[in-house]
Amino acid sequence: HTVYDVLIIGAGPIGIACAIAAKNNHLSHLIVDKGCLVNSLYNYPTNMTFFSSSERLEIEEIPFVTTNPKPKRAEALEYYRRVHDKFNLNTKLFEEVLSYQKQGEIFHIQTSKNQYKARNIIVATGFYDIPIYLNIPGEDLPKVSHYYNDPHYYAGQNVVIVGASNSSIDAALETYRKGAKVTLVIRGTDISHRVKYWVRPDIMNRIAEGSITVYFESQLKEILSDKVVISTKNTEITIANDFVLTLTGYRPNFELLKKFQINIPDDDDMIPEHDLNTMETNIKGLYLAGVVCGGLNTHLWFIENSRVHAKMIMESILAKS
Ligand code: FAD
Repeated sequence: HTVYDVLIIGAGPIGIACAIAAKNNHLSHLIVDKGCLVNSLYNYPTNMTFFSSSERLEIEEIPFVTTNPKPKRAEALEYYRRVHDKFNLNTKLFEEVLSYQKQGEIFHIQTSKNQYKARNIIVATGFYDIPIYLNIPGEDLPKVSHYYNDPHYYAGQNVVIVGASNSSIDAALETYRKGAKVTLVIRGTDISHRVKYWVRPDIMNRIAEGSITVYFESQLKEILSDKVVISTKNTEITIANDFVLTLTGYRPNFELLKKFQINIPDDDDMIPEHDLNTMETNIKGLYLAGVVCGGLNTHLWFIENSRVHAKMIMESILAKS
């Protein structure tokens, strides 16, 4: 039974970067992902455009070529798959990592299909699997979704979109352009300053001309089969509704991290404990990489600035052996 030098949980951009770094340092590796290759990117909206230019999404300095100013989801899928295959990485897909037991220096990892042994584990599980729920009545109705995919589906429908950041603004503009009647419900007083700089004027103009309705300082209170109740700054209103998109963010799988015995502080950000120089957690040989490192602060890390985790981790592993 093989003992891998590193078992990487998550075949996202950063999991792939870690596997390549392991390979380049002659360490054996296995990547395990519960979904398809770059599962999070696969589940992004079909027409999504990255906020990063393509060179900032590159791993191992392999050029990410595009003729667009910013790459699209489909191009990123193509890029990461080609890089993955080029390095002939050892990857198991549609297999979920459930738990581990540490016996001496060796981790015994249990997945939904197999057991593996490894000297080190890298948790690169991202944050896109678990939405942040509103916890309001009706949120479990089939017409409510926490992920947005394609605009055509909403043609001619009354759509309420909750949230003020990139996901909700992209969804609002796309569905409006396919004939949906869009109402945005926003908790704060403005569209998020993180909205892509070239998208912002578009949404501001659609709001100003009345093509898209927006309620600022408002919250969705209840979802019913054919209407929703919005509590606005001064009053409560009920409007006709066919679909609700609650695009209010996502969070890491803290339950899994706790099961892995990683310390998580009980504060606003809940950043899982790790050494900022080595990325090692409070469990020796158990590392964190990629956007999972930010805890609830999902804007702290992205592909651009977390690619380096791969190299830091390999340096730490090599320094020990
Ligand atoms: P992910 O890509 O999320 O990969 C985590 C993987 O772990 C997934 O494939 C998941 O299936 C797998 N997994 C989770 N739990 C388990 C388990 N128990 N067992 C096995 N596998 C598991 N960043 C940028 O730099 N530029 C951008 O323009 C940009 N745009 C974004 C747009 C959207 C809509 C979103 C949501 C994010 C965006 N980001 C962007 C952030 C970007 O998603 C992340 O930076 C990137 O996906 C993080 O890579 P990662 O490898 O850390 O995690």
